[in-house]
Amino acid sequence: MTVREPGPGAVVRPRLTVVSGPSGVGKSSVVAEVVWFWPQLFVSVSMTTRAPRGGERPDEHYHYVDRAIFARMIERGEFLEYAEYAGNFYGTPVAPLRAALAIGRSTLLEIEVQGARQVRAAMPEALLVMLVPPSWEVLDGRLSDRGTEDPAERECRLRVARAELDAVGEFDATVVNDDVRRAALELINLMGGTVGRTPPTRPR
Ligand code: 5GP
Repeated sequence: MTVREPGPGAVVRPRLTVVSGPSGVGKSSVVAEVVWFWPQLFVSVSMTTRAPRGGERPDEHYHYVDRAIFARMIERGEFLEYAEYAGNFYGTPVAPLRAALAIGRSTLLEIEVQGARQVRAAMPEALLVMLVPPSWEVLDGRLSDRGTEDPAERECRLRVARAELDAVGEFDATVVNDDVRRAALELINLMGGTVGRTPPTRPR
């Protein structure tokens, strides 16, 4: 059973939800799990100046652009929010998001903390959720195991992660990512969705 969109008999009110949390906490895995239950959910695809990682597909994980294009988009006011993170720029294109909300789709952004603050200022009705690791050691281990960053970048991301976790009080809710499915179901619940019995066949 999946989450139903607004409409006759709907259980979900369209709204914007922001999920933040330190690098390596598992935001992408939790969001993917949420979408599995809730395929009608609109998940924003960000623009970034970072190079694609192995396995990432353009226009699915991110729209990859150079700094000149990113700067032009800032000038034209085409971002709901944007931020520099670990030496690269990331931003949420505002037009697709507004279009989704306008037709009543619930929407989800997966962004870092500076961006979450900007969303709070621009759309105070947004729900801000911080995804946190069960412990600092778990986060450190996940970043090392992931192996997608060199040691210097990993160190930089861990420094930023400490500051991000300090911002937890600015968020409406905290979800501990001790288990991807459990965290996803808690997030859906916070977003106002209702999920039926967990399908036994969902691969992990
Ligand atoms: P990564 O390089 O690991 O994909 O992303 C680095 C950080 O940037 C993550 O915390 C991710 O959630 C965040 N991020 C991704 N897209 C956006 C965006 O559009 N805006 C902001 N502010 N942060 C983003």
